[in-house]
Amino acid sequence: GKPVCECNSCFKGPDCSDPIPNCEVDADSGDPMFLEPFWLKHAARSSLVVPGWHRMSYEFGDGSLISEELENHIRRLHSVVGNANTDGRYIIFGAGATQLLNAAVHALSSNDDGDDTSSSPSRVVASIPYYPVYREQTEFFQSEDYRFDGDTMSRKNKMDYLSNNYIELVTSPNNPDGQLKKAVLQGESVKTIHDLAYNWPHFTAIPAPADEDLLIFTVSKLTGHAGSRFGWAIVKDEAVYQRMLTYINLSVYGVPRETQLRVLKLLKVVLEGEGKEMFEFGFKTMANRWRKLSKIFSASRRFSVQDLEHQYCSFSKKIRGPSPAFAWVKCEREEDKDCFQVLKSGANIIGRQGSLFGGESNYVRLSLVKSQYEFNLLLERIEALVQQEPHNK
Ligand code: PMP
Repeated sequence: GKPVCECNSCFKGPDCSDPIPNCEVDADSGDPMFLEPFWLKHAARSSLVVPGWHRMSYEFGDGSLISEELENHIRRLHSVVGNANTDGRYIIFGAGATQLLNAAVHALSSNDDGDDTSSSPSRVVASIPYYPVYREQTEFFQSEDYRFDGDTMSRKNKMDYLSNNYIELVTSPNNPDGQLKKAVLQGESVKTIHDLAYNWPHFTAIPAPADEDLLIFTVSKLTGHAGSRFGWAIVKDEAVYQRMLTYINLSVYGVPRETQLRVLKLLKVVLEGEGKEMFEFGFKTMANRWRKLSKIFSASRRFSVQDLEHQYCSFSKKIRGPSPAFAWVKCEREEDKDCFQVLKSGANIIGRQGSLFGGESNYVRLSLVKSQYEFNLLLERIEALVQQEPHNK
């Protein structure tokens, strides 16, 4: 059974399953707790005991900072799922995708080796709606080598990317709207970072292995272990790989070995039976949630959600329906301009404001990846809100 947990503000009782009426429903964070039942089922096989003497050293026996066995399991996982080509590529570990994103921006920016002082800072762009951390992180580090420059599409129209260095962040499937994305800008002065955090069968059909120059993945959205802080990048170019390595070495000198040990243990469980069991569970859970939620929204005139296609998945070898990590909700009425506020005051639901994604405030993102209890509560509240509408479809 599940150990005693700390309940959040909506639940009480020994297993946190008694709802507290009228509480605030937190649909803000993308904490992927939907996978917890899978790990409860495999509690014994996924457990880890680390004696005090084990893995004390800075380095592994070969002097490296990354576990070769873990690296090999990651390569194997990608080949089983068919979501990324790792042949002849370098792999680097980081403290979550969060750290690797900045390592990649640093590695691809114009002035990083200090001898290129003539060129202007690289411009970091992403297509709206984009994951807010891209802007927040790039601005936070205040580097002389790069700066956040907003929406990719506005650059494409101006064509000014031909004369400046650009770093385009591509998120596929996209956070917040779950759409599969390709790079927009092209040209010699454009470098791309593909953030593939959600490119797993839980959240999307896998059309073909990603083959671009720099791919970023995270265990957070793969196994749900967001708290382990583990991500990896798959890098084609050796010089870029070396610059990312320098970034990791000088900032943290490697990912904790306990984390690497835990992730290895988890991936071994995932890879038993070629990943079928976890991905089937993940896909079923997410597809079910989306079916229920989009059905409720389809009866509404006041709200709409993103349209997602059925697609062929090379992993399941089937055409499959959508199973996104987030709902990207639009408030359709003129008077509902602040969609975040509409859900908050109308149903006590806390989403994430559309404006944070570079978009309009008549959008709000709802997280669908949390625990089943939390999702059910969200569903109930949305249903009640839609039922209040005077003229449903
Ligand atoms: N990229 C995207 C698109 C994300 O949604 C997230 C997590 N919400 C991250 C990166 C960061 O993941 P991590 O937990 O590995 O830092």
